[in-house]
Amino acid sequence: MLKIEPKKGILDIALYQAGSSPRPADQNVIKLSSNENPYGPSKKSIDAIKRHAAGVHLYPSTNHLELRQSIAARFGLSDENIICGVGSDEIISFLCQAFAGPGDEVIHTEHGFAMYRISALAAGAQPVAVQENNRHTDVDAILGACSNKTKLIFIANPNNPTGTMIDAAEIQRLADGIPENCLLVLDGAYAEYVSNFDGGASLVQDRENVFMTRTFSKMYGLGGLRIGWGYGSKHIIDILNRIRGPFNLSTIALAAANSALSDLNYVKKCRNENARLRDWLSNALSNLGLESDKSDANFILARFKGAEEAAACYKFLYADGLIVRQVANYNLPNCLRITIGDEAACKRVHSSVRSFLESIK
Ligand SMILES: *Cc1c(COP(=O)(O)O)cnc(C)c1O
Repeated sequence: MLKIEPKKGILDIALYQAGSSPRPADQNVIKLSSNENPYGPSKKSIDAIKRHAAGVHLYPSTNHLELRQSIAARFGLSDENIICGVGSDEIISFLCQAFAGPGDEVIHTEHGFAMYRISALAAGAQPVAVQENNRHTDVDAILGACSNKTKLIFIANPNNPTGTMIDAAEIQRLADGIPENCLLVLDGAYAEYVSNFDGGASLVQDRENVFMTRTFSKMYGLGGLRIGWGYGSKHIIDILNRIRGPFNLSTIALAAANSALSDLNYVKKCRNENARLRDWLSNALSNLGLESDKSDANFILARFKGAEEAAACYKFLYADGLIVRQVANYNLPNCLRITIGDEAACKRVHSSVRSFLESIK
């Protein structure tokens, strides 16, 4: 028997389950399982990727100054308060490594994003799942679960996989109520899908105990390049930079992200199409008897009569060339999470779900 064993907690980590992908030959298959932008990246990002191809023998920037300045200019922030990571996943991991270890607790909501638990365990800390209120973040429940062991609280707003969000006053009440030595992390992966929403940036500006994470993987259509960022007090940014690899982001990733920020029209178009089709699909499914909470993101969480019906519908859609997401591992076995695709994809989902429901009548 091999005597080499991992640290405590590592073997408690269940492997992250990514959304299924079609085989490359499956031309007519649509992937709606990972909340990707159905319209792809902006043409400006694609041009930037091509432009930088010949220079990849050179190491990339280590401080990401240009991208940080573009992010700061675009969102009205200060570049000194920004850190860039290999997806926001890496920022989540930095936060856990830096602030939580053995004996510490990391709070996330009942149906919170899987990476919070994984990163907490990897850091040796104890993840604590706090009950939601009908799939909405419950501020009082979180405050009730806080103790002097709590080092981090992760809230995705809007949340994945529920799609729900809570308002600024509730988030502020949470920030006001948490213990002094605890950092509240607002995960804004879907912030771009909400109009007139800063993802919590203004709250970060007001307080040292709030941090925000953002990503280029969803609205900007750059999931394959792995770019995310965090926004916090200089004190926190300085701590995180100490554990960040010096060349964590590639030249190509930095260039693509930078260019994505300059294509405001593209973001606007994608946001509007998403909102229009999301409302259409949730209404259309509701008319078939499948309810979902009001979603503020680029997906909806459809609720079925039970786990069996949800699993059967997943299979039916899959056979019909539509890959959606099963969320039993999020303790939502009676639900399917469906990314809002383009118009043709949404119509196909509607008609396939209708056929499924007729088939089980
Ligand atoms: C998709 C997603 C992320 C983004 O992860 P990246 O590492 O930036 O691709 C972060 N948080 C939540 C809640 C998400 O759904």
